[in-house]
Amino acid sequence: MSELLAVSPATLPELHALLAETETPLDFIAGGTDMLVAGRWPRPDGGVLVDVSGVDGMAHIDVLGDCIRIGAATTIAALAGHRKLGEKLAALRQAAVEFASPQIRNRATVGGNIANAAPAADLVPVLLAAGARLVLFLPGGRRREVPLAAWTRVPGELIAEVVDGLSRNGAEGDGQVEQSVRTRVTELCDAFPVYPGR
Ligand SMILES: Cc1cc2nc3c(=O)[nH]c(=O)nc-3n(C[C@H](O)[C@H](O)[C@H](O)COP(=O)(O)OP(=O)(O)OC[C@H]3O[C@@H](n4cnc5c(N)ncnc54)[C@H](O)[C@@H]3O)c2cc1C
Repeated sequence: MSELLAVSPATLPELHALLAETETPLDFIAGGTDMLVAGRWPRPDGGVLVDVSGVDGMAHIDVLGDCIRIGAATTIAALAGHRKLGEKLAALRQAAVEFASPQIRNRATVGGNIANAAPAADLVPVLLAAGARLVLFLPGGRRREVPLAAWTRVPGELIAEVVDGLSRNGAEGDGQVEQSVRTRVTELCDAFPVYPGR
């Protein structure tokens, strides 16, 4: 079995240097609530595992006018407790409040919830309905931004930030997001009838 190297960059410049200079394929871990439970580590073929949970500058929630920027290493607990976020996008805060248990909310991150791409990921429908975009850091030190709705996970690409730039006005805009979530969930239920005819 080849060696697994685990690194924990403390700052964004350290993280950028890793992405720019490391030739071995990189993989990421944040809260570990999906990866460790799934028992997928240590990886049999080695590589470099980057722990992004302690990177200074990756766990922020900035609400600036109608633009919300959330660092990928932000925990679900931080989302749940953010009053200003709740005023702008109540559906996202509510999804965080109802997420798992306090222990999981304290470790689990926004980036991990998106990247794991589980059908039951609680934040994803809200972020999709809100038209969120992802800021991605790529191997080699490049960066790109993509709508969440168009994103496909590519090995070695790191989700750095989630940006919701919907122009909305308080409760009215948030109501539209909640309506959009409901519509999409209804469409999904129609598409996959578990109990046909009921
Ligand atoms: C008991 C329990 C209850 C749970 N309940 C819920 C629930 O109610 N709702 C829900 O939605 N989920 C739930 N989960 C699942 C899990 O907690 C969430 O999906 C969580 O958000 C994952 O985040 P994490 O930081 O722990 O991810 P990790 O386990 O660290 O990583 C998960 C995956 O994402 C990748 N990854 C992590 N961060 C990044 C990044 N920044 N860029 C690229 N890739 C990245 C990792 O490589 C890995 O493949 C639960 C899990 C457990 C164990």
